[in-house]
Order: sequence, then C-alpha cells, then structure tokens
Amino acid sequence: MKYFAGIDIGSTSIKIVVVDENKKLIGYKTSASGSMFYKYAQETLELLLKELEISIENVVYIVSTGYGRKLYKEANENISEITANAVGAIAAASEYGEIKTIINIGGQDSKAISLDSDGNVTNFAMNDRCAAGTGKFLDVVALKLEIGVDELGDYHFKAQGTPLSVSSTCAVFAESEIIGLLGNNHSVEDIVCGVHYSIAKRIVKLVRRVGIKEGIYFDGGPAMNEGLVNAIENELGQRLFIPNYPQVTTSFGAAIIAVDSFNYEMVN
Ligand code: ADP
Repeated sequence: MKYFAGIDIGSTSIKIVVVDENKKLIGYKTSASGSMFYKYAQETLELLLKELEISIENVVYIVSTGYGRKLYKEANENISEITANAVGAIAAASEYGEIKTIINIGGQDSKAISLDSDGNVTNFAMNDRCAAGTGKFLDVVALKLEIGVDELGDYHFKAQGTPLSVSSTCAVFAESEIIGLLGNNHSVEDIVCGVHYSIAKRIVKLVRRVGIKEGIYFDGGPAMNEGLVNAIENELGQRLFIPNYPQVTTSFGAAIIAVDSFNYEMVN
C-alpha cells in the first residue's frame, strides 16, 4: 500500500495528515511549531508513522504547505495554504454539501476564501497584520484569565445576559481591558463571551470582503472552540459547517494533492 502525507507548518502548530491511495484519512498528528519548524515537523511525521505502523519508504509523496512550507526539504512539492485549505475543505465537507466560503482562523492570521461551484478559489481576504481575530488573541485572553484555550467554549455558554463589549482589537490593549473588566467584577464567563463576539464581528467583516454566501465552512484551531462558533453563527445569521478535525483541513488538502501529483507523475 502506498501512503501520502500533507504537512502544514503553521505559525503556531504543525499538522500532519497521512492518506492512502483512495485519499482516505488514515491518521493525523499535531504539535507546536516552536522555533525549529523543520526539526519538529520531521519528529512529528516520525511519531505519526510509528503510531500508524507505516514505514517512511511507503510514503511515496509529500506535499508541504503553510507558513514554513519551504523549510521542509523532504517535500516533493509545496503549495499555498489557500489552495490546500480549499481542497481539504471540499473533501471534508463532501457529505455535507457545497462549500462556497471558507473561514480559517489560524494562530496568527485569519482568512475568508470564496469558491466557485467547481471548487476553484475565486477570491480571498486575509488579516495577518495584527493578532485581532486570530488564535493568538484567544491565547492571550485565556492566559490572562488563567484558563486553557480548550476551555473557552465551556465558559462562553455559561455567560449571563447580553455579551459584554470588548472593544480592544489589539491583543496588548485587550489584556489591559480584561484586567479592567475583572476589576469591575465581571465574571470570566462574561468576558470570554464578550471576546468571542468581538472576534466574531471582525470575522464577519472579513467574510463580507469576499461576499457572504450560504455554505460556510469554518476551520483552523479556533474552530474547535464551540463558543466562538456560536458567536460567529449569531453574527453571520447562519449555521457554519465545522469538520470533524478542524485543525487539519489544510494538511488533509495537501495530502490529497500529494495523491493527485503522484498519479500525474506516474502517467507523464
Ligand atoms: P496555524 O496554522 O497558524 O499554526 P492553527 O490552525 O493550528 O494555527 O490554530 C492555532 C490556534 O488554535 C491557537 O492559537 C489556539 O488559539 C487555537 N486552539 C488550539 N487548540 C485548541 C483547542 N483544543 N480548543 C480551542 N482552540 C484551540
């Protein structure tokens, strides 16, 4: 059996997906990007293959993507994360229906990608200039509130009344605003909910730049936060499609492209 790997080296985390010849997801692994992208990507791949009991010789084609994609020297090919995200989202949502827009929130950027009915990327908008509306913003908030990013969703749903207004868009100012809110006796739950709505409002503005259509897929690490999903759905006025493994859509797309590129090379 031949296997294919998609390696997404993001600003915050490394995501690796292995698929078989039928583009079926066999396994995935994530790890922190840290400062040594190549070394950690290599170690993560080795660990994943060990868990899956697959020998590296059977991994016949590797596609890298993401921020650090060019640093992964063993890759047969590297592609932009926009393309990989689109391919992964269409495959992951195949049972759901047609995807027209993708919202991706990563560690240090957020994107809205518009697709045509053939799944081609027709437009995209990106915020990579500041932490507002990114995973980094959530990380700073969680740290200040002394809770885990994976707990933000639970806190969100325990908030009372109208969501608090958190106006700071800069992560540094948000930190001082949060200190002020805590000082005014607002609960951690209410602050978390307010933060989610402030991010959601920014994300909706980003999506408007490419056009809001039905069939919106949300991925990236923060899509695991059900509170944020809830806030974006309320601000958008429509349900989002969240895949089973939101953090690995882009690496899944890279692995699918690996199968296609390998097959193409075989016949040419
Ligand atoms: P990148 O591709 O830029 O490295 P990711 O898509 O991996 O980014 O997203 C990283 C972000 O995901 C983190 O900054 C964090 O805010 C968020 N995140 C990671 N794990 C979780 C989790 N279990 N629950 C909620 N959010 C998470």
